[in-house]
Amino acid sequence: MFKGTKISAVFCAIALTLGLVACSSSDNTPTPKNVIFFLGDGMGMTTLTAARIYSVGEDGELTIDTLPETGFVRTFSADSQVTDSAPSMAAYMTGVKMNNEVISMSANTQAYNASGAAYTSGRNSTCPSSGNGSSVATVLELAIANSMSTGVVSTARLTHATPAATYSHICNRNAENDIAAQAVPGNAKFNKALGSGIDVLLGGDSTYWRPVGAVAAAPTLGRTDNADLVKDMQTAGYTFVNDLTGFNAFTPGNNKKLFGLFDQAVAQGHMSYEADRNPALEPSIAQMTSKAIDVLSKNTKGYFLMVEGGRIDHALHETNGKRALMDTVAFDDAIKMAISKVDLKNTLIIVTADHDHTLVLNGYAKRTGKTTSSEAGVLGLVKDYVLGAITKDINGIGYSIMGFGNGENRPATRAALTDVQTSDLNYHQEAVIQQSAGGETHGGADVFIGAIGAGASVVSGMKNNTDVFAIIKTGLGL
Ligand SMILES: [Zn+2]
Repeated sequence: MFKGTKISAVFCAIALTLGLVACSSSDNTPTPKNVIFFLGDGMGMTTLTAARIYSVGEDGELTIDTLPETGFVRTFSADSQVTDSAPSMAAYMTGVKMNNEVISMSANTQAYNASGAAYTSGRNSTCPSSGNGSSVATVLELAIANSMSTGVVSTARLTHATPAATYSHICNRNAENDIAAQAVPGNAKFNKALGSGIDVLLGGDSTYWRPVGAVAAAPTLGRTDNADLVKDMQTAGYTFVNDLTGFNAFTPGNNKKLFGLFDQAVAQGHMSYEADRNPALEPSIAQMTSKAIDVLSKNTKGYFLMVEGGRIDHALHETNGKRALMDTVAFDDAIKMAISKVDLKNTLIIVTADHDHTLVLNGYAKRTGKTTSSEAGVLGLVKDYVLGAITKDINGIGYSIMGFGNGENRPATRAALTDVQTSDLNYHQEAVIQQSAGGETHGGADVFIGAIGAGASVVSGMKNNTDVFAIIKTGLGL
């Protein structure tokens, strides 16, 4: 399909020269100049299905369900059957499969030394300066090299693995102080492939950007030095915003750069879960996406924008079903907004996930329809599809539709449950294998990929995550 698109483009260029102007308007796979890459962190197929039932019922449609092109992605990393967010996102951004916990580096890069110790000290890097791999270019950097605008939006902290993989290069994802420094023009560790800097950076958590002690609520995270990267970003020409008032007041203009960190309402790190978000303090992911498009679309040479629904993954690690589904729906809303806002004739929108989780939907539940204030829906117990009675396990105890392969809630003896319990915002679904709190693992299954807009037809069938790099690159016309 790439070849077909290129041949088509060449043919059209010749046809235009000959005056056959109808060619460009009849070409149904034009080369787009803008790419928006939506990444639902940990948003496996089961999470998508559950979010659909939760939001619109079994036969309803999320925006993701309406994408005209769809396929699957294999997510394994260089050294692990089950990837973490770092190498999976980095594979999308660079086309290289790397080891778990490595951010946008060559395949031979090690996150740990031979004794199994991480190449980090606190949140600072101790990556060897030589002999441990080298940086590999990201699509964001390639876009900047071609005078395009770039943006990174996440509901997680901007130094977390997914956003970091767009703009930084480091052997271990936990070196978040150095990851932040790589985004700051003028800093000694600045990633010079970012030119004058990323145009839009919006996300959570200022602890890696503020001097030590400046963020009282983050005793175990954040900087250990006196660097004030927020101030340095302002010096580099960024408008800094940290609440909804400042965010709304920012008006896009030529060469205006936006840097937003929203963490007033959060004890440490990340933006709030959608369920907990104060809309008077923090923008939604849809609002951030909309603002980013407004800023980036000022550049007639095009743009690359990455938008991460970062907290879907965190709620799943906590086996906290309702928050995971609410964040998935908020992510879907951002996609809906983007589709309605951009010109799909020159913009490619791709939606995917970086990996699965261990969420399952137990059978054989009768159809529930969407979740309402009085009906638990998919958050409730499995009920018999003929009689409607609660379905029982081998010991005569009911069980919830949603469950996990591993997680924190594994009762020694299962007790009777109610829909009210299992649909509570703070309920943690039961798991087969016991883990510590927040310790549910990623899953190893393939994930969904979908696309709409210019050149979307190349997104089909079974892909490796590294294949997506070429799709984005081609989409940007690079
Ligand atoms: Zn992830």
